[in-house]
Amino acid sequence: MPKTLPMRCDQCRFWHRLDTQSVPDLMPGHCHRFPPVQVNSIHEGPSAKRDPAAWSVPVVHASAWCGEFRAPEKG
Ligand code: SF4
Repeated sequence: MPKTLPMRCDQCRFWHRLDTQSVPDLMPGHCHRFPPVQVNSIHEGPSAKRDPAAWSVPVVHASAWCGEFRAPEKG
């Protein structure tokens, strides 16, 4: 029977670590499962969409997980 990975963000193909200084389970990382979403901007109106700082992907802890979990590709 193939070994299955624990369902954790740090075992998911979409997670990218941001920091190495944290407690392992609390290590933050970006989830790249979906495109960035607009989170905030110092600009208003149409120029806000052109501000890269106004877009982000979720930041999640290493020990978190969600229903979109996928194991890394082999090879
Ligand atoms: S939030 Fe879901 S899709 Fe994103 S890294 Fe964690 S398990 Fe993977």
